Amino acid sequence: MSDGGHLDDHLQQLAWRLHAIVGEDNVLENEPMSEHTTFKIGGPADLFVIPEDPDEVHDTIEACQEAAVPYFVLGRGSDLLVSDDGYRGVIVAVADGLTGVEVEDDEMSCQSGVNLREASEMACELGLTGLEFACGIPGSIGGACFMNAGAYDGCMADVLKSVRVLKKDGRQDTLDVDELDPGYRHSRIADEGMVVLSATFKLHHGDSEKIRARMDELTRRREEKQPLELPSAGSTFKRPEGHFAGKLITDAGLQGYQVGGAAVSKKHAGFVVNLGGATASDVHAVIEHVQDEVERQFGVRLEPEVRFLG
Ligand code: FAD
Repeated sequence: MSDGGHLDDHLQQLAWRLHAIVGEDNVLENEPMSEHTTFKIGGPADLFVIPEDPDEVHDTIEACQEAAVPYFVLGRGSDLLVSDDGYRGVIVAVADGLTGVEVEDDEMSCQSGVNLREASEMACELGLTGLEFACGIPGSIGGACFMNAGAYDGCMADVLKSVRVLKKDGRQDTLDVDELDPGYRHSRIADEGMVVLSATFKLHHGDSEKIRARMDELTRRREEKQPLELPSAGSTFKRPEGHFAGKLITDAGLQGYQVGGAAVSKKHAGFVVNLGGATASDVHAVIEHVQDEVERQFGVRLEPEVRFLG
């Protein structure tokens, strides 16, 4: 659709329509996705749009649908591998604009762009317990609801009360947590292509010092075990039933396995890291080799947790 950095006529028309919806400054052209992913990898997106409220999200998506141009809803890019060729279509970057938070008693409502770490930090400061597990997850509230993110025996579904979504048909709805069909790294939001606009957490009053101590302990455990000093998208693979991905990869002798700038972390085999200058093709090559080798040695096919785009 775009050619050598120039938008074709159809995309240019859409860009003008999007200017009217979100303002010209919030529509970027040929935006490098490497700047919007924790992997620091990814070629340019034709259009990168930053809506600042739910109506702008709705109107942006409607404009893309009417123009029959593909779109992708981006959070903090912490679970994404974007191709080296980038994305032909519109990135709807909800995490940059929708960042409001409201607190009432023990309930906290966050717009979808709020960083999960910040939400966890805020809850701690307010003496609200429940979100400690999330203190080291660098995703947005929207991305975390989408895949029911979790860590250390906690997950989003444990603390969510409801989620405000934009459905594919353009209607907004509020879904209670039990209507989300949450599972391990899965929710109905993903199945039905809904967009998370905001989420309300049901927390409990607690002791800030105890909450802080738990968060500090989880942060220490992460720092000890995970290669947080290098760009990655967290755990590359889902936990296969009855196994741990990291242990299988270690036992297969793959720690340190490298293609170009991408490698299986020596610190935690469950992470593929960008050692510097890695391309998406490098990461793909590492992932495929790990899948094949683990399957050959142990008969288990690892399924990526990281999502691929472009
Ligand atoms: P993105 O990567 O931007 O997008 C991921 C998916 O969510 C995409 O399909 C996107 O379309 C969709 N999405 C994003 N926002 C919305 C929205 N508003 N509405 C609808 N769909 C949306 N994950 C864990 O579960 N547990 C961990 O402990 C954990 N640790 C991590 C540690 C590190 C160092 C890193 C880099 C990642 C880690 N992750 C972990 C992965 C990641 O942070 C989570 O999966 C997070 O939920 C992804 O959120 P995001 O906003 O970055 O989503």
